[in-house]
Amino acid sequence: MKILIIGAGLSGTLLAIRMAQRGFQVELREKRSDMRQEEVAAGRSINLALSNRGLKALDQAGMKEEILETCIPMYGRMIHGVDGALRMSKYSGRAEEYINSVSRAGLNISLLNKAEGFENLQLHFASACTDVDLENARANFQNADGTTETVQADIVIGSDGVGSAVRQSLMRNTTKLLFNYSQEFLRSGYKELSIPPAADGGYRIEKNALHIWPRGKFMMIALPNLDGSFTVTMFHPYEGESGFNTLDTDQKVQAFFEEYYADALPHLPTLLHDYRHNHVGVLGNIKCYPWQAYGKSLILGDAAHAIVPFYGQGMNASFEDVRVFDDLVEVHGTDWKLLFQTFQDARAHNTNAIADLAVDNFYEMQDKVADPLFIKKRTLEMQLEQTYPDYYSKYSLVTFKEELPYAQAMELGRKQDELLLAICKKDEVPNLDSVMQQIAAISL
Ligand SMILES: Cc1cc2nc3c(=O)[nH]c(=O)nc-3n(C[C@H](O)[C@H](O)[C@H](O)COP(=O)(O)OP(=O)(O)OC[C@H]3O[C@@H](n4cnc5c(N)ncnc54)[C@H](O)[C@@H]3O)c2cc1C
Repeated sequence: MKILIIGAGLSGTLLAIRMAQRGFQVELREKRSDMRQEEVAAGRSINLALSNRGLKALDQAGMKEEILETCIPMYGRMIHGVDGALRMSKYSGRAEEYINSVSRAGLNISLLNKAEGFENLQLHFASACTDVDLENARANFQNADGTTETVQADIVIGSDGVGSAVRQSLMRNTTKLLFNYSQEFLRSGYKELSIPPAADGGYRIEKNALHIWPRGKFMMIALPNLDGSFTVTMFHPYEGESGFNTLDTDQKVQAFFEEYYADALPHLPTLLHDYRHNHVGVLGNIKCYPWQAYGKSLILGDAAHAIVPFYGQGMNASFEDVRVFDDLVEVHGTDWKLLFQTFQDARAHNTNAIADLAVDNFYEMQDKVADPLFIKKRTLEMQLEQTYPDYYSKYSLVTFKEELPYAQAMELGRKQDELLLAICKKDEVPNLDSVMQQIAAISL
């Protein structure tokens, strides 16, 4: 039984490892050359927030502890006011609940190193899938050396990311497969900057936090790296006063940072160089259905559900895909048709939910985190989490309750939010027991 996996990014490589651990013959093909032999390009040294759902999937492959050693815990959001005032907003009222900053390249490399150790797993780099014969599990590849190849397998799984060639093959069969597809771009993009380590090799700003400079219609965030640096990401509209297209000279960028990000400026010595050279990335949600065809071909990860990054869940959701797929292999064995159908039906409404939540969080992070009513609600959530072990805020339901599907976390979390906001709008100090009773009355 041969499984062909297309795309050796985060989800594809983890899936390849799990399928190899189960004894399948696995072929993993990647468009890029081997990243272990290359320097990460400037502006691409992205780090990601890894949390419980992703860790659970890594644990299944026996890699959780190894990866955690390369992570930096982030206990909350460090909010930077325009005047430079700092406020830490914890992610949870429970000390053991936090998220982790991990290097995307470092994580991918750890996965590739692990994958390489299996005799039944073949890795090919610099081999781009061009199209898939979905019905016959056969895929065509264009190699970087100019040659082409056709690979025959028993099943093909596309984990080839947001621009997926496998998804495009599904799209070419739109009417036959009744293939639905939607993409929704934000009118904002992102650009990466960098805060280097301090002169003594330490951190210039608080190490164990995700830093946010919320400014209403735009924001900047920073996540720590192991070497003392921070990867900074500006999320700005394309147009308008704060737009990437408007901030088009060194002078304008400098003046803008002096006005809106003054406390960060001394830590950004390469700002003008980074701003000029690093590209503006697009942000959007992609939803589609079905994810499988003929019980022979399937997509997962960003290929099936790319989402905006504001809940820090894209990779976590993609790793969760792998965990759920793996659990289904345990149940259905190699009845691929049943397995693929069960998988897509278990996952699609949940990844749609996290896509919607991530857009909500876009507005929350850039605007509401500085709003007094939101701060009051967040304080109440912390008190409830500290007092009642069974209470989880919406953020905690999504991030720390990995056994709860995203769609249920969204439904319960939104109902709780509505209730808590109504309580916080009143002047009196809320009675925690009475708030908990009202929360307990909310049912899914
Ligand atoms: C700015 C930003 C910040 C983010 N922050 C977070 C975060 O904090 N937490 C989080 O959980 N998620 C985050 N994400 C989302 C996360 O990066 C993705 O969800 C995750 O990388 C998806 O993994 P994947 O394996 O499905 O796709 P990818 O990691 O994109 O891997 C796809 C792989 O397929 C390869 N490929 C592409 N086309 C072909 C082809 N034709 N043939 C062969 N190979 C191909 C690619 O080269 C790549 O190696 C962020 C995303 C962005 C853009």
